[in-house]
Amino acid sequence: MTVLFGTAPSREVIHTLEEAGYEAVFVGGAVRDFLLGKPATDIDIATSAEPQEVKAVFPMTVDIGTAHGTILVLMNGEPIEVTTYRTEGTYTDHRRPDKVQFVKSLREDLRRRDFTMNALAITKDGELIDLFGGKADMADRIIRAVGIAADRFNEDALRMFRAIRFTAVLGFDIEEQTFEAIRTNANQIRYISVERLKAEMDKLFASNNPAKAFRNIQNTGLNLYLPLFPLDIEKFSRTVPFESVMEGWACFMISGNFSSSDVANAYKLSNAEKMFLSSVKGAYTNRIDRQFTTDDYYHYDLAVLYTTEKLFKSLRNTGQIISFAEIKEMKESLPIQSLADLSVDGKKLMAWTSQKGGRWIGEWIEKIEKAVLYGICENEPNDIKEWFLYEFNRKK
Ligand code: ATP
Ligand code: MG
Repeated sequence: MTVLFGTAPSREVIHTLEEAGYEAVFVGGAVRDFLLGKPATDIDIATSAEPQEVKAVFPMTVDIGTAHGTILVLMNGEPIEVTTYRTEGTYTDHRRPDKVQFVKSLREDLRRRDFTMNALAITKDGELIDLFGGKADMADRIIRAVGIAADRFNEDALRMFRAIRFTAVLGFDIEEQTFEAIRTNANQIRYISVERLKAEMDKLFASNNPAKAFRNIQNTGLNLYLPLFPLDIEKFSRTVPFESVMEGWACFMISGNFSSSDVANAYKLSNAEKMFLSSVKGAYTNRIDRQFTTDDYYHYDLAVLYTTEKLFKSLRNTGQIISFAEIKEMKESLPIQSLADLSVDGKKLMAWTSQKGGRWIGEWIEKIEKAVLYGICENEPNDIKEWFLYEFNRKK
């Protein structure tokens, strides 16, 4: 029995396009992952219908990239991307086609894709269309460019980094000529926007084998042209695989001895990501000198503490290492987890002292927060009141 590819609604989309006289097939990463026995995410459909024709066939569509030929079809509530067969014309800047051209043949569309494993298609009935030997390459666990590798990397230099990212994600190796072409064209990676590099780095950090990718980055010479490389690969590799993408970035920062803003600026990290790195950097700097203190447990959230201890363990491995369970226990045993847990607020302080609001409130709340955190008084209004009034009157 053939195992059908895709979801029922996605097959329905293909069926509808075929009924309307067009060709349509599943393509791209989801087909590759299906052959590897992985669950399919991001199902893509390629079709001979042009965007306007796709829109005419379905009642519910969203334009998400009409210029590139992509329409989102909503089928029984499921969003499915449908992209018109296209070629990418000429490339003058090593990154983006000058213009996208719609074509009528699936072969033309598959030929512009980067690697043979990514140039496979599957019909709605589960039949594999393999025009470039992708199936055999996958069986050999090889990443091979479609066509002449050097030409393909000249068109879009990001493909070189994608090849390497796939070595980490899939555990495959890069075919010899494809590898050689990366070595020869490595310098062109500098034409690629950091946004695209960052997306690939994220996937690399989430993979099972980031160290493999970093070795390949070095062996191909890409490291000479990437922001904040070369990096101490031996050091970097001691912490892999990562439990999260952000742990990867943190390891990149610490093992390379970079500041959080170095990394955030070079790879355009989001504010939340930048804050995480800045916290890890702070916690790590503390951790080099000593165990975490009550202040550390209070100020840094669990993810930051976990990541810091993990990096400390793998990069330094000196002194007593604490387990994740211990970190969690220490954090949870604090009298308060944040200011919101404090059992008194500014209003109470005003009532107790019969004084108007002002800067003094914030200052005293901070003192009370510390007193509670360090167990000088219980987090209980009467206990706090007693301590506070005594200290307050004493300092008047
Ligand atoms: P992932 O599983 O990480 O999403 P993917 O191969 O699906 O990997 P996408 O960026 O989602 O990567 O791209 C979908 C498909 O589009 C690819 O499988 C490939 O056929 C094609 N593709 C993507 N980027 C390029 C590129 N830079 N050059 C040529 N073809 C590309
Ligand atoms: Mg994909």
